[in-house]
Amino acid sequence: MTNKTLSPGDILDAYCTKCRKMMNHTLIALVDEKPSRVKCNTCEGEHNFRNPPKTKKSASSGRTTAAATKKALAIEAKKTEQREEWEKSCAALANTSPTTYSMDIVVKAKTLVQHKKFGLGVVQNVIGENKMTVLFQDGEKLLRCG
Ligand SMILES: [Zn+2]
Repeated sequence: MTNKTLSPGDILDAYCTKCRKMMNHTLIALVDEKPSRVKCNTCEGEHNFRNPPKTKKSASSGRTTAAATKKALAIEAKKTEQREEWEKSCAALANTSPTTYSMDIVVKAKTLVQHKKFGLGVVQNVIGENKMTVLFQDGEKLLRCG
């Protein structure tokens, strides 16, 4: 991929001086096998090829992407963890019968509920008078109860 020879007409990512961001460009001219002149596919402006400027803005957007990736990974890890927890809890409570969920359900923590939409869940905590967290196959949800 990286040693692919570029030739005029190729599409490449370049910083557009008019759009002020990375855009698809059509390569017009090369110098020493490096892009020299490009045309923006978005604004159709022709300009010299340039790499993204090292501005504060691009640095922070880079950070955002890294942070977003990290966050996505953390969410994914938490999901897997919750899924395993759900499987374990369901297995541990397999010999109990789940309570069908309704808005006025009264349940205790570590019991099974059967929800119409979310399926089988394990009550995690009853919060105050009328809220509870229930772990379902696709994660923990806050539901009304009592
Ligand atoms: Zn442009």
